[in-house]
Amino acid sequence: MRSFTSSGIILRLKSLGEADRFVTIYTRDRGKITCIAKGLRSIKSRRNPHVELLNLLRFQHWKSAHHYYLTECTTEESFRELKKDLAALSSATFMIEILDRLTEEDQNDESIFNLLENSLSIIEFYPQNHELIREIFLIKLLGHLGHINNFRTCSYCREKLPATLAYFNKKDYALSCESCFKNKQSFLNLDLEIITLENLKLMHFILKTPLTKLLKINTRPHHLQNIQQWGRVFLYKNLSYPLNSEPALSIY
Ligand SMILES: [Zn+2]
Repeated sequence: MRSFTSSGIILRLKSLGEADRFVTIYTRDRGKITCIAKGLRSIKSRRNPHVELLNLLRFQHWKSAHHYYLTECTTEESFRELKKDLAALSSATFMIEILDRLTEEDQNDESIFNLLENSLSIIEFYPQNHELIREIFLIKLLGHLGHINNFRTCSYCREKLPATLAYFNKKDYALSCESCFKNKQSFLNLDLEIITLENLKLMHFILKTPLTKLLKINTRPHHLQNIQQWGRVFLYKNLSYPLNSEPALSIY
C-alpha cells in the first residue's frame, strides 16, 4: 500500500455511515479528489479537528482500485479571520461550491489551486474586500476553464472588438461586433443586450491581469455590480441546478 502526501483545500464534506466521511479536497498536485476518511466522526479521531470546510490541509492518502483513503492530516492554514466574519465566510463558501461544481475529479491543475489559495489568503487579510475577490475569483475561474468569452474579440468574425460597444447574444452566449450584428438578419429575432465599452474593458482587464495586481485597482460600486452581473450570466450557463451557498450572499 503506497501512501502519498498532498496539500489541498477542503471543498465538501459528506457523512458516510456512522463514523466515516467523504472529504472532497482541491489539491495542489492532483486536482480535485474525494477521499474516504474512516472513523473520522469518532470523538477520539485525531484528524477530526483538522477536517473542516475551507481548511488547507497537509494530508496523507492512499488509493485502492476505486477510492482514495485519507489517513493522516494536519492543518496548514485554517483562515481563522475569514471564518470569524460571516459575510466573508459566505463568500468563501460560495467560492468553494462553484469550484466544486465546475470541476471534475482527478484533473490536475495547479493554477486553479493557486487561484483558490490566493483568493482565500487575500480575504483572510482583507475580509472587507470579500465581495470583489469572490467575483474576481468567479470570472478568473470561468476564464481558466474556457467558460467565458474573452471580451476582446467578436465570437463570429474573431476580429478585435471596436472601441465602441458590442452586443451580447443571450441565446448562444456570444459577443458580436457591430458589423456582424448588422450582417446577420437572423439576429433580428434574438435576445440581445448591449455591452458598453467600459464593461468590455473591465471584464477583459480582470481576465488578463494577475489577481494580486487587481487589488490595486480603484473599483467603484457599479464596477462590482457589472463584474457580478457578467460572472453570473456565464456561471449559470454551466450549472444545471442552483447553488446552495448563493442565498446567504444577500443576507450578510
Ligand atoms: Zn464580428
